[in-house]
Amino acid sequence: MDMVRQRLPIVAIDGPVGSGKSTVARLLADRLGFLYIDTGAMYRAAAWKALREGMDLEDREAVGALMERTQIELEQAGSRVRVRCDGQDISAEIRSPEVSRATSAVADHPRVRSRLVEMQREMGRRGGVVMEGRDIGTVVFPEAQVKVYLDATAEQRARRRTEELEASGMAVSYEDTLRDLLERDRRDRTRDVGALRIAEEATVIDSSAASAEEVTDRIESLVRRLQVEERSDRI
Ligand code: C5P
Repeated sequence: MDMVRQRLPIVAIDGPVGSGKSTVARLLADRLGFLYIDTGAMYRAAAWKALREGMDLEDREAVGALMERTQIELEQAGSRVRVRCDGQDISAEIRSPEVSRATSAVADHPRVRSRLVEMQREMGRRGGVVMEGRDIGTVVFPEAQVKVYLDATAEQRARRRTEELEASGMAVSYEDTLRDLLERDRRDRTRDVGALRIAEEATVIDSSAASAEEVTDRIESLVRRLQVEERSDRI
């Protein structure tokens, strides 16, 4: 019997708004029996709290200090993730367009990022996780065994995002969603720390014309191949 205990891999999935990351990451984690970690939900929780405290979102010092006294928890509830901020369940509130806009601003602050990155490293430390966000393969886990950058055209992403918001009962137009998305893309790609970019050695997958199942199949085969390679290395 093989007594060598291999550490389970870390799968890092990055990409812009609406590229299908969440659906794919959740499906993949489910198939592999891995933990699914939605890092965007953590930045959203930080923004929700800053909004509730009526803060100036551009005030780095104040928002940074707020993070020191805020507790953010992710809890897996079946295939869903529940987000708690200081014990309060805010899973639904953090998905509103208002929180989405505020999140891009809050996520610019280095102190916010360093606190959340530290928490994310702790969560993924043991491996066996699918972690999605903007800087997972570049900053949080540059050593992740599987790194994927998921992309799609802005129009396709805006269509997807509009459908998602409508499905959760929010009245939004495609035009407003596209405008918000382009602005979030701009901020996500140009921030000083943790900017969205393709990590070294990342596999780039264009999800414009592929279903979530097809994209998940591709990433799953990357993970399975890695596991086979590791087994043959040990023989
Ligand atoms: O993934 P989601 O759209 O929920 O992320 C919300 C926002 O949080 C992003 O637009 C981005 O500004 C920020 N974010 C980040 N780094 C991550 C995940 C999300 O800056 N790892």
